[in-house]
Amino acid sequence: MKEPKLIEAIGVDKQFGDTKVLRNCSLAVDVGETVVLIGPSGSGKSTFLRCLNLLEPPTGGDVFFEGRNITSDLRHADRIRRDIGMVFQNFELFQHLTAAENIMLAPMRVLGLCTADAHDLALDLLKKVHIPERSDHYPDELSGGQQQRVAIARALAMRPKMMLYDEPTSALDPEMIREVLDVMAELSADGMTSICVTHEMGFARRAADRIIFMEDGAIIENANAADFFGGLVNERTQRFLDQIL
Ligand code: ADP
Ligand code: MG
Repeated sequence: MKEPKLIEAIGVDKQFGDTKVLRNCSLAVDVGETVVLIGPSGSGKSTFLRCLNLLEPPTGGDVFFEGRNITSDLRHADRIRRDIGMVFQNFELFQHLTAAENIMLAPMRVLGLCTADAHDLALDLLKKVHIPERSDHYPDELSGGQQQRVAIARALAMRPKMMLYDEPTSALDPEMIREVLDVMAELSADGMTSICVTHEMGFARRAADRIIFMEDGAIIENANAADFFGGLVNERTQRFLDQIL
């Protein structure tokens, strides 16, 4: 039997009131794939990510995770958010908790880990994102790049099956972008299935298996990396690339 895709959106629509934000968006992602999602501001990238993990319920179409239709029953939402880690532009760390405590919170509350095990897990994950020495620091004592790496570690603490990144470096000073992208690329190289909204095309070149271009709520292009970087893109995608590069 054919392996089901890890996640598959089929004909996803999203409407806020009368405004159509997503139109018939379909995307299938295999286990281990890294997909980079690009497109102009307002094209629906964040909404699409949020529909994939049911932070927003789609108003049409279906999302399958490991072959199971998760949109048919929104009771799946908690489980899905555990299986899909998400990282946002503005880190969204708890300011009153240290780096380690931010990471420990969900594994203790949701997975039932004891403090000692959660602390060990936090230190392992802080090593993975290359800042073990920052474990006892509060977010306001960390650089933006360090905070975002704590946010990635926090997402990984739930042992997700895939990661969604929504413009993870766009709030960072240029000198910190690289350290965050490096961690994301390392995770991808280790086999973490990922969808990354980012316009860092150096990262896309290095880590992406596929590039998706969205415009006006629709997926205009879904190209494998070799074709994309070989210049085999449609005219609208090329026009957008000319603007950002
Ligand atoms: P992108 O991430 O590509 O910049 P978004 O997904 O954030 O795009 O937004 C797509 C469109 O949907 C925008 O026009 C935005 O104003 C609209 N939108 C997003 N969230 C909401 C919401 N909660 N209510 C109404 N409109 C929204
Ligand atoms: Mg967005």
